[in-house]
Amino acid sequence: MAPEGPVEKAANERMARIVMKFGGTSVADVERMRRVAAFVKCEADAGHSVVVTVSAMAGETNRLVALCDEAGPPDPALDVRNVEYDAVVASGEQVTSGLVALILQKMGYRARSWHGWQAPVQTDAAHGKARILDIPSEKIGEAIDNGEIAVVAGFQGIAPDGRISTLGRGGSDTTAVAFAAALGAERCDIYTDVDGVYTTDPRISKQARKLDRVSYEEMLEMASLGAKVLQTRSVELAMAYKVPVRVLSSFEPPDAPRAGTLICDEDDIMEKHIVSAVTLSKDEAKISLLSVPDEPGRAAMIFGLLADAGINVDMIVQSPSRQAGANISFTMAETELARAVETLTLNKDAIGYVQMQSDKNVVKVSVIGVGMRSHTGVASTMFKALGERAINIQNISTSEIKISVLIAADYGELAVRTLHQAYGLDRADSAA
Ligand code: ADP
Ligand code: ASP
Ligand code: MG
Repeated sequence: MAPEGPVEKAANERMARIVMKFGGTSVADVERMRRVAAFVKCEADAGHSVVVTVSAMAGETNRLVALCDEAGPPDPALDVRNVEYDAVVASGEQVTSGLVALILQKMGYRARSWHGWQAPVQTDAAHGKARILDIPSEKIGEAIDNGEIAVVAGFQGIAPDGRISTLGRGGSDTTAVAFAAALGAERCDIYTDVDGVYTTDPRISKQARKLDRVSYEEMLEMASLGAKVLQTRSVELAMAYKVPVRVLSSFEPPDAPRAGTLICDEDDIMEKHIVSAVTLSKDEAKISLLSVPDEPGRAAMIFGLLADAGINVDMIVQSPSRQAGANISFTMAETELARAVETLTLNKDAIGYVQMQSDKNVVKVSVIGVGMRSHTGVASTMFKALGERAINIQNISTSEIKISVLIAADYGELAVRTLHQAYGLDRADSAA
């Protein structure tokens, strides 16, 4: 092997870079921000180069969104939010990044806040749900390697028009993982109000168990199917750039040993479950088109029109109509229902349906697990368990590692608890 040159040596000597993200409840007030600073202190004192990403104080983004809606409600026909919406809602994270930097400075650390445009976090132009395109990380990389703690405002970036953009609700997770990827960080620690990823939302079932490890693929399905502990895009980025992500609690003592949940490659998980998790997604709505002419090209027309309107359709069911033609029903995010109804109303004659029905009172319950690839009977267990509780299934969709059903909203939590038990996920210490 060639002797170590100056470049390799410098790289080897560089302290490990780590990214720590703190969510809204972790920075809910100045007292809690002091606790955040205590967590950061532990990593900085261990000699790491640290980037901290913060959310807005708990409830603050909701407050800012409500103010925007009061000032100028969003146009349901528009795909993107008003640019000024982003200018307003991004302010929550700017406040917390400044306050956490200030607290760290008072503790004797060199720290500074970075807003999205300063880093810069470059995004596309989809205001309100922008995607990160790039983070030229030289400036921040140099700052942290020189011992300064970078406190980055999460959830925001700068769009090509030079205006502030935001990354969609829960977007601070994505900020954190994107920085970890851009900086080649050793790990990305997501601190929140639960001590890891659970087999289901612990707020829905007391029987939920913490998972030590979850594969990127399972976590991706979980996040996109309702487990809001991580934003879906953050998991996509972690998977693409192989960033090891840990989910941890900021409500434990800062210097206590922490296991949390590691999101990692499937190959790094010894214990494989057939079903790892059950999720509930409330942001669902259903449209049924009745008596659509049953002939080639109609489905292409309907879903082509919806795609052109930027609507993401899921769970499609077609069945013969008792009257004439076929009934076609499908789901989408509740937030996209108004646009979908408008698009289909405008094109009623071209599509040729007789009646349109829409329903917001539905939820999607899903079971997820990589073990489904190699096991049979997973779907029948699900349908049997729901049937025994008299829970009616309206639509079904599957992928290699998940099965989702659409049911009436009133039965959502009961269905989650029923399936959690049916797949043997309830805590071992429970009385069953
Ligand atoms: P933060 O403000 O820290 O980003 P979030 O509220 O976005 O926190 O996410 C944490 C919440 O996610 C938890 O309080 C929990 O109720 C919810 N959650 C939903 N599904 C799960 C799950 N499978 N495991 C852990 N938490 C979950
Ligand atoms: N503050 C933003 C939100 O509430 C982003 C985040 O917390 O991740 O959605
Ligand atoms: Mg969150």
